[in-house]
Amino acid sequence: MSQQGYVATPPYSQPQPGIGLSPPHYGHYGDPSHTASPTGMMKPAGPLGATATGAMLPPGPPPPGPHQFGQNGAHAAGHPPQRFSGPPPVNNVASSYAPYQPSAQSSCPNSMSTSSVTQLGSQLSAMQINSYGKSSGVAPASQGPPGPLSVTSFQTPPRPPQPSILQPGSQVLPPPPTKLNGPGASPLPPAMYRPDGLAGPPPPNAQYQPPPLSGQTLGAGYPPQQANSGPQMAGAQLSYPGGFPGSPAQMAGPPQPQKKLDLDSIPSPIQVIENDRASRGGQVYATNTRGQIPPLVTTDCIIQDQGNASPRFIRCTTYCFPCTSDMAKQAQIPLAAVIKPFATIPSNEVRMIYSLYLVNHGESGPVRCNRCKAYMCPFMQFIEGGRRYQCGFCNCVNDVPPFYFQHLDHIGRRLDHYEKPELSLGSYEYVATLDYCRKNKLPNPPAFIFMIDVSYSNIKNGLVKLICEELKTVLEKLPKEEQEETSAIRVGFITYNKVLHFFNVKSNLAQPQMMVVTDVGEVFVPLLDGFLVNYQESQSVIHNLLDQIPDMFADSNENETVFAPVIQAGMEALKAADCPGKLFIFHSSLPTAEAPGKLKNRDDKKLVNTDKEKILFQPQTNVYDSLAKDCVAHGCSVTLFLFPSQYVDVASLGLVPQLTGGTLYKYSNFQMHLDSQQFLNDLRNDIEKKIGFDAIMRVRTSTGFRATDFFGGILMNNTTDVEMAAIDCDKAVTVEFKHDDKLSEDSGALIQCAVLYTTISGQRRLRIHNLGLNCSSQLGDLYKSCETDALINFFAKSAFKAVLHQPLKVIREILVNQTAHMLACYRKNCASPSAASQLILPDSMKVLPVYMNCLLKNCVLLSRPEISTDERAFQRQLVMTMGVADSQLFFYPQLLPIHTLDVKSTTLPAAVRCSESRLSEGGIFLLANGLHMFLWLGVSSPPELIQGIFNVPSFAHINTDMTLLPEVGNPYSQQLRMIMGIIQQKRPYSMKLTIVKQREQPEMVFRQFLVEDKGLYGGPSYVDFICCVYKEICQLLN
Ligand SMILES: [Zn+2]
Repeated sequence: MSQQGYVATPPYSQPQPGIGLSPPHYGHYGDPSHTASPTGMMKPAGPLGATATGAMLPPGPPPPGPHQFGQNGAHAAGHPPQRFSGPPPVNNVASSYAPYQPSAQSSCPNSMSTSSVTQLGSQLSAMQINSYGKSSGVAPASQGPPGPLSVTSFQTPPRPPQPSILQPGSQVLPPPPTKLNGPGASPLPPAMYRPDGLAGPPPPNAQYQPPPLSGQTLGAGYPPQQANSGPQMAGAQLSYPGGFPGSPAQMAGPPQPQKKLDLDSIPSPIQVIENDRASRGGQVYATNTRGQIPPLVTTDCIIQDQGNASPRFIRCTTYCFPCTSDMAKQAQIPLAAVIKPFATIPSNEVRMIYSLYLVNHGESGPVRCNRCKAYMCPFMQFIEGGRRYQCGFCNCVNDVPPFYFQHLDHIGRRLDHYEKPELSLGSYEYVATLDYCRKNKLPNPPAFIFMIDVSYSNIKNGLVKLICEELKTVLEKLPKEEQEETSAIRVGFITYNKVLHFFNVKSNLAQPQMMVVTDVGEVFVPLLDGFLVNYQESQSVIHNLLDQIPDMFADSNENETVFAPVIQAGMEALKAADCPGKLFIFHSSLPTAEAPGKLKNRDDKKLVNTDKEKILFQPQTNVYDSLAKDCVAHGCSVTLFLFPSQYVDVASLGLVPQLTGGTLYKYSNFQMHLDSQQFLNDLRNDIEKKIGFDAIMRVRTSTGFRATDFFGGILMNNTTDVEMAAIDCDKAVTVEFKHDDKLSEDSGALIQCAVLYTTISGQRRLRIHNLGLNCSSQLGDLYKSCETDALINFFAKSAFKAVLHQPLKVIREILVNQTAHMLACYRKNCASPSAASQLILPDSMKVLPVYMNCLLKNCVLLSRPEISTDERAFQRQLVMTMGVADSQLFFYPQLLPIHTLDVKSTTLPAAVRCSESRLSEGGIFLLANGLHMFLWLGVSSPPELIQGIFNVPSFAHINTDMTLLPEVGNPYSQQLRMIMGIIQQKRPYSMKLTIVKQREQPEMVFRQFLVEDKGLYGGPSYVDFICCVYKEICQLLN
């Protein structure tokens, strides 16, 4: 939405006392700086294409600060974001990585050349291996002669279990600080091994015990990683097959130079996930302590809001910010939060059905700080007997409004502390007053408009019929408020090919009426009354229409389609009805018909791996960019279901969905009998999703730092207001912070995220999330508090944003360099003294190298002509709005052994590492990454399992041409389908199942997901990558 609705309306046009005094101004939507906005911002939404890029921005120089706030290049008006800004890359890196002299050339370009691999291979052969603490013993470095490289990581002891029941106010102390990684760490052996597995807390000095010298078995709950040790598959790619973990020979005695570095001697993501599950899974995590580190996204636990937002809403790259910007520059750890404001809360955590506590102050509206406009929250300190309060964000002392007065108790807390959600909870909602509404008028409930491409091929292949049939069912499930009987959402229908057909489905009509708009150059809405209707009231007319549509166009030979006019039509209809809403567009082809937004096939593989590759990710025309701006200005979100059979230019077609908080679904080469289920699941899920419309998000921070960059399905017309036509439960916005002053260890770093939005029933609300982080002047504290999953989410989004402006090679080098910088800084400043040849990883970043390598090998960053341009554009867009749990699974898929299934268990089998070395001819494995699911069958899979799952006698009888497993009434089948259901749960995209037989052609697709191995289309293996990171670190340290 644009500013104009808010600008001229009181009370915001009257500057608040104190507001003009202390920059930066964080006044909310009516910030006085907006009242002074140049008239250029008042531009009425013009017809399609009338808005030139940048027209929405105030004239004159860009806002101060190093950052541009466009969602993509098209908005950034030629100013690429700082992180990946322009050539030459080396200088750029040098400017921001002060303490280190960056190597002029990254020694590890992503697509590693054969020569560099060979080089590494020879280096590897001379390496000392200090195994990462798994089932193998680890010799302290000081005990063995130094070798060229050893991999070591610190392990923190599991945190003590937290009390499972917590009363409000009970204080749970954070886990005792571990000194292992801290700067004051005693000179411990650099590597550590816990012989007692993870059953129960260790004896006080367990971590200091000398490592055992023989192989040990793991504690309960830790099935060995090596699911089996069957023969290697033909064509095995892993060049360093390792011995069984913990083999005594590997560890005891002097180093054995002939031994090669293998997977088992470098940190395992699976081990890290399982460790966290074992120590924190199933427990209550209470958010009552500032700066505490939540369980990993992969750990199931019960979260209790006690004053800070649940990690389901906000996760951070680190929960302890460095006190100074110098420290931040030294460590090069991005300071960022991944915010998912509408995250789904599991039923055992909800206090209210569906939503958060709702605070209603009537006409007074929310209580806010006069200066910085922060909302009342647990960070406000009441003083003077409760008559005033000091803002935790800007320190301004405010009077408590008379209606809000309350006495304080003996510890200075208000007597009503636990009765008021805004005083005791991290997350809650406010009812917004008229001042927060467009034109000072309460909004109308949103509308959904269904827009179906009825060109020849869609009719012919039955897609139109499928959509129409399904709509009859899903319209019954339109989202509604829990207290309401029927949904307030109105619905409308449009079909199109190169012209548009609007339908009148007014309830009193016997038959729907069609109105054709042929002037696609300037779309208008031919009817107001009867286009958007209540589904229940018009049900029979709507069903009548949906029955007729497939036949209506059965004789059409029209192959050409338009696209931008379709979005324009939907938006104009919402505008005319004065409501926000969502367009569901079902589209198949490149829009080549003469109209605005017409596209040509510009897929040029010759651009791959050149400096011009970025063009492939940019939209072909600026029509879609201006259209997206208009849509956001009118609260119109666009969700696109694409069914391409060839290149359709996803980079152009997907732009409006991305910038309007919609979702892009892509079903390439859609086949009715195989892909219907996946599409229908997505459609149902999308319609029923929890969603807010016409939203503006503002992230406020305490003094000393501020939000400087934003990534997600958003648009920004100034530096602070994050505008979203809609935001649903699966969408996250990643926010980067920078220092603008010193932070204090006492007051910490506070974040308040406020989202003003319209509910599905048309109420205007404010959703508030608060989170307090620690600050420290010790680098060790910073490293101790990092979350690798959130770091990868941030790196992925910032890199994927940068592909619009910069050569991919430069982006890959920056990622590798930054990884090395972060680890080198730790090595230099935090790790206890040890042999220079050791690679020492902070406990919180043990798996950073493997995850970073997965990101580097993703098809977006990998310049390979084998991968379709549309698929790369699609994945780029997908990741831009992902939350931490989804990006974790996407970059490091889940690989589960199925052949060892315990049919009596109700939990998932323990995952294994994504490497071919973990597969076996006698095994069956399930792999999922959030988009795809594979069931891989070894050639010697047990016949009883094959019978159980497929109901056929042998491997040879399995028909791989299926996307659903047959429902066979035995425990194996039931168990496997239950597991698949659990994996699918809570994921935004329905995963299509592919059955893969070992040594058959489709196995190639599956192998791309074995991300610890060398990439099928290039990209180093994890082992090679960690060696290259090590080399980089050595260069930095020397
Ligand atoms: Zn304030």
